Amino acid sequence: MDGKRLEFKGEEALRELERLTINAREVQETILNDILSRNRETEYLRKHLKGVTDISEFKSRVPVVTYSHVLPYIERISNGEDSSIISGHPIIELLRSSGTTGGEPRLMPSIAEDLDRRTYVYNLLMPIMSKHLSGLDKGKVMHLLFIKAETVLPSGRPARSVLTSYYKSDHFRCRGADPYNDLTSPTEVILCPDSHQSMYCQLLSGLIHRHSVLRLGAVFASALLRSITFLERNWHEFTNDIRTGRLNPTITDHACRAVMSHMLLSPNPTLADEIDSICNSNSWRGIVVSLWPKVKCIEAVLTGTMAQYIPMLEFYSGGGIPLVCTMYASSESYFGVNLNPLCHPNDVSYTLLPNMAYFEFIELENGLRCGDGEEVPKEKVVGLVDVKVGRYYEIVLTTFSGLYRYRVGDVLRVTGFYNNAPQFKFIGRRNVILSIDSDKTNEEDLHKSITTVKDILEKQNYLLIEYTSYADSSSVPGHYVLFWEIKLISEKSEPGNEQCLVHPELIESCCIAIEESLDYVYRRCRTHDRSVGPLEIRLVECGTFEALMDLLISQGSSINQYKTPRCIERGPALGLLNSKVKGCFFSPKDPAWSA
Ligand code: AMP
Repeated sequence: MDGKRLEFKGEEALRELERLTINAREVQETILNDILSRNRETEYLRKHLKGVTDISEFKSRVPVVTYSHVLPYIERISNGEDSSIISGHPIIELLRSSGTTGGEPRLMPSIAEDLDRRTYVYNLLMPIMSKHLSGLDKGKVMHLLFIKAETVLPSGRPARSVLTSYYKSDHFRCRGADPYNDLTSPTEVILCPDSHQSMYCQLLSGLIHRHSVLRLGAVFASALLRSITFLERNWHEFTNDIRTGRLNPTITDHACRAVMSHMLLSPNPTLADEIDSICNSNSWRGIVVSLWPKVKCIEAVLTGTMAQYIPMLEFYSGGGIPLVCTMYASSESYFGVNLNPLCHPNDVSYTLLPNMAYFEFIELENGLRCGDGEEVPKEKVVGLVDVKVGRYYEIVLTTFSGLYRYRVGDVLRVTGFYNNAPQFKFIGRRNVILSIDSDKTNEEDLHKSITTVKDILEKQNYLLIEYTSYADSSSVPGHYVLFWEIKLISEKSEPGNEQCLVHPELIESCCIAIEESLDYVYRRCRTHDRSVGPLEIRLVECGTFEALMDLLISQGSSINQYKTPRCIERGPALGLLNSKVKGCFFSPKDPAWSA
């Protein structure tokens, strides 16, 4: 695809969106034809198609695959073999995905024009938002954006996260002035590889510009909350900098120091006093609107398992401003946008953009999953425009950069169509994450069961801040363990104190409610077969999940793309969680089950 054709902005971008969605079928066919003709000479396609570029041959001969199938090619590219083994265009970098379900980070091939495709999606967001909120060009945007240090592969290509690649590209660094995207964070600060220093400087710039911030956010809600809690602990450092006009000496990065010292040029005790008095209040409920009084919306991904952060963000925002989920994307490809940005995060559907890649979908009937090693039956794979409303699907991609019928691992449910392009609710990752016997609990099941107990906690003024799980087979029988970090929401409380006060009956009633909401097979194993033991909740100290995030980031995850693993299997992460346990609570009774 010609990069220039993707340089749409404003109304023009919306017109292009109409064209793409009205002609979804034709656009998809054109994309696949382009991919097949450009990449026909690659080793991969020659092996399966022997030079044929026919779409129906593609569908019958090219297998639907998972990462383990692609990995040998990725390794060869990493080690210096030519891009042409999988792509007709030079692979300029390998993008490190967050390895969402706790596995090794995966590396995805990327070619230069992928940056144009990503830019096209970013350029669509503000025209869509402006249809719903006015005056967004009259102030600043406090987006907390982070990069992650990159590595150089033996081939000389960088391996880095997709957002690092984007923020370092000319598309981002040399973007022209745009009144809708006037960021509070200077580019130098976003590009600082030390995420702690970057976060500090970005929060400081956001506070300095507090009276002109109209939109505030981060890519994923986890990074935004991480930043807010960082502010909660360190606000006096920020007001000290603003009061004295001198940057905190812990900021040592030269570029950050230069740009921030310039921003702090004259001491501003009035601003520092304002922020002091807001931050000093007993409760941080609604702090976002107190600190940034003109803010019209908060932007972050809050769909899928990120939905657990909705109550926390509603708490900090005071509930009066919309929480906006703008887009759905991955390292493999960007997928789609939310055309109804002001809807509640629970109701978000993403409209897939037919020009991003060639999309196919594996039908998942009645919760049926197709395991990693299993061959996918041909009749279960349908095209973008052939999906049916209400059904569940796993998304499969074919890209210009060399992924062919690749299973991304995301499960989606069709909620409707915009013109002829389907709209999807993000459901979760495909993989089963907990299993002791014949029970199989996936991310979505776990998330749903945890959602059922939120009310129980909230009635007692507790918020579940974070959770993960672990299948403990060291006990006989094995059992599910949930690590929970909870927080009292009525007041600002000192770290560590709140959980000592928790009544055991409260957490035990949560154990019961979770077990009751898990599926039939789980309950049979628990109650009838006795092959699974009582579910256990381990409450961990405040700050544990931040420590987990630090640990996983130190092992290669990126702060921008970080998602708390919903299951921890072993290793230092499990050790860390166990070392922070304040109390263990078991389900006191068997869940209901009848034959
Ligand atoms: P990464 O490749 O590390 O950027 O991770 C991409 C994955 O993040 C996707 O495959 C999804 O599982 C998840 N993801 C991205 N965008 C969203 C979204 N809007 N809602 C829920 N999950 C998302």
